[in-house]
Amino acid sequence: MALSISIIKTSINGCRNIFGPIKPRIIKNLDTSSIKYAPQLAADTVVLSSKCSNIFNKQLKDFYKIDAQIQDPLISRKAYEAVEDFCNINKKNNLFSGLKITSAPMDNSSSISKINFNADKNEFSICFNENFNWKELNKITNEMYNHGQIASNRPSYLIYKDLGEFLNFKYNPYAYQMSINRDFCNASADIARRISDSVNISEFNSHYIAARMSKKELPKILKTFFEEQTGNIDLKFPKPISQNIKTGSIHKFKSIEDAKKYLSENYNIDADFLSIDQANLFAGSVDDLSKILGDKKYFDGFKVKIDAAPFSNPGTKASLHWDSATGEAELYLNPAYNWKNNAKLIKKDYEAGLHPTPNPKDSILHELCHWLDFKGNPQKYGAVETDFKNGFRYYNEFGKSITGKVSSYAAKSPAEFNAEYICGRINGIKYPQATDNEFLSGWNGPKLYFTD
Ligand SMILES: [Zn+2]
Repeated sequence: MALSISIIKTSINGCRNIFGPIKPRIIKNLDTSSIKYAPQLAADTVVLSSKCSNIFNKQLKDFYKIDAQIQDPLISRKAYEAVEDFCNINKKNNLFSGLKITSAPMDNSSSISKINFNADKNEFSICFNENFNWKELNKITNEMYNHGQIASNRPSYLIYKDLGEFLNFKYNPYAYQMSINRDFCNASADIARRISDSVNISEFNSHYIAARMSKKELPKILKTFFEEQTGNIDLKFPKPISQNIKTGSIHKFKSIEDAKKYLSENYNIDADFLSIDQANLFAGSVDDLSKILGDKKYFDGFKVKIDAAPFSNPGTKASLHWDSATGEAELYLNPAYNWKNNAKLIKKDYEAGLHPTPNPKDSILHELCHWLDFKGNPQKYGAVETDFKNGFRYYNEFGKSITGKVSSYAAKSPAEFNAEYICGRINGIKYPQATDNEFLSGWNGPKLYFTD
């Protein structure tokens, strides 16, 4: 079967509605006015002569065995630099042997490139668009990142992605061909959205390579997905830039009574605990949240109970029980949950993409965020959380691509997104502008002063 396929790489989509079929909440305009663009590379301002593209083409041919026929000098330099990044880290000059790179003007100026391949003839080419605004690549990449479309705002990201697509093809042409028309579904799709707005398997593989080349720290499940879909590509990536999870307040109370006294005196919280581990986690979480609230008053009268009755699953850590009619809520901690193993279990959730950080305190912090969200507007919280019929509770695909940047659990519903987002931010993780905006538009609780 001789099959030639062209894939056009498009740029920014318009702003779309974020929720399910009834569209109850609409982000009409994503506010991009406050987007801070990464500074332009100084070298971009240097006028490159057409001779430069000949030099870069020759280097690409001689050193990296790439059939390079790039006309535009700026494109040739950017392509050369990205190829160099891959080859240096992999210590292989022939990583891209067999690849053809060209450039040509295309009708659609928002497309960065067009990919052609023929699996039978083992041919693969990338044609970069000369009508794309290459001088604005940094700004455009940053905009795409802030819209939740790509995993990083590193200027080379989009070129890494195309080169990564070639590697997918080269290492396993059959798997590559199969992945082009296949999408992830359900829970796997929410995991894929962590690094892009696409749930297509081929797109995921290329975004994964671009994200890793851009030094993005990712939970293990993404690597597992990538290896499953590509047949274990033998690729090396640079060391990720660590997100440096903040530890925040740590308590080591001598007794449960000491912890209860501390919480009662400092916050007027009436809490019951089964173990010191629980009490320490709880007090540390309340301290951390109070810091970004700037006030201790928000927990006044809060009640914490130990009771297995509300839990059908021993894996559930805790749950906030609320009544929007009375505005009352209390927190239940599950005695059946393995609190001694909490740190390991949270790490497991993080690596599975379910949760934004591996911080053990998050099992409590998440529930305290629900409390603040609920108390801020009990009626609205209740309506958002229970309106299954109108689809109000669930995000649509676009919404998931914005909320899924936090965790797959955050992509589930507005209340879970709010709680997960705060856990991420309080631990020092930064998110795209669209994700920040979604939080600001849906959060019912008091103003939060994140310290990053
Ligand atoms: Zn929750």
